[in-house]
Amino acid sequence: MSKVKYQICSNCIMDTTDSNITFDERGWCDYCRNYYENILPNWHTDERGANALADISEKIRKDGRGRRHDCLIGISGGADSSYVALLAKEKMGLNPLLFHVDGGWNSEVSANNIHRLVDGLGLDLYTEVIDWPEMKDLQLAFFKAQVANVDTPQDLCFFSSLYKFAVKNNYKYILTGGNYSTECVREPLEWGAYYQSDMRFVKDIHRRFGTIPLRTFPATDILKYKLYYRYVKGIKVIRPLDYVPYIKEDVMQLLTNRFGWQKYVQKHHESRFTRFVECFWLPRKFGFERRRAHLSSLILTNQMTRDEALRRVSKPEITEQEMMDDFEYVAKKLDLTKAQLQELFEGKNMLFSDYKNKLFIINLGTTVMRLLGLEKRVIR
Ligand SMILES: [Zn+2]
Repeated sequence: MSKVKYQICSNCIMDTTDSNITFDERGWCDYCRNYYENILPNWHTDERGANALADISEKIRKDGRGRRHDCLIGISGGADSSYVALLAKEKMGLNPLLFHVDGGWNSEVSANNIHRLVDGLGLDLYTEVIDWPEMKDLQLAFFKAQVANVDTPQDLCFFSSLYKFAVKNNYKYILTGGNYSTECVREPLEWGAYYQSDMRFVKDIHRRFGTIPLRTFPATDILKYKLYYRYVKGIKVIRPLDYVPYIKEDVMQLLTNRFGWQKYVQKHHESRFTRFVECFWLPRKFGFERRRAHLSSLILTNQMTRDEALRRVSKPEITEQEMMDDFEYVAKKLDLTKAQLQELFEGKNMLFSDYKNKLFIINLGTTVMRLLGLEKRVIR
């Protein structure tokens, strides 16, 4: 790789650690330009959004008549999905089933948040528990593959379980916490955020580094859910947070006041594994700081100043001691000694593209989606 001069966007805090970033004459990055040109003009959280959400809600209620639950909501215990549950019940007038996947890494806070929400809103909860030996084997395979994508197994089983359950039980609507407000700047694929459901990629890594067969592990390929589930099975994915004003701090305060919900320091910290990956493994081993994308989203949506974001990103969210505790916890849970995890940490870094994958065909799909106006974020 050629050494490029370091540059940081003068509007957000994305920088050349994203090797494909480009800047215009003002020093603004392409995520910023895309936000103002493609996302903002098409994103309505005023009356237009409220009306659209009311129409969607009515359709879901109508289609769900006679059913015990009219839609599914994947819930993690984080702010995004918790707020979707609240909106579904109280603003959309729906009767959702909350669907949670226990991949073995739930923090106590997240388990507690989910139960407070379920009790507070009087909703039903279904929890799917992933077979731990299989989960562990796949996670270890990703560590051994030396790619930044070590949270792929977790993301893959979360979302595959949800879709499989929806198909099996004839759900037509899945509500997700996906949103522009906190995710309008998507993490670049090279920061370990490559599509978790590219099964060609997952299978290649597991074939090389796995030790036991995956018999029950929920794994749905990206093409199956993008095409078969959506167009043949007719499953619709709704992002309610894009139709209402979503100011994260305010929402966390609201959830705290109403349900005794506890906030996390940073996005995605509801899983102890994800906290370890984002605070320690990615920045220290690969130099990838995913908070740059998260905080840049907050800058663009006026939820944080650029100065504040620069201050936040200049130091870790958790202390050295907490990081060392997480290191030990993760090693132990994966049946590694600290020395073995350290050895993996020091191994030569690989790219997702060093393994078999379907990027070409997925890119083709993304291009079509962008042409149709169905995908407005920069994905690369
Ligand atoms: Zn920017």
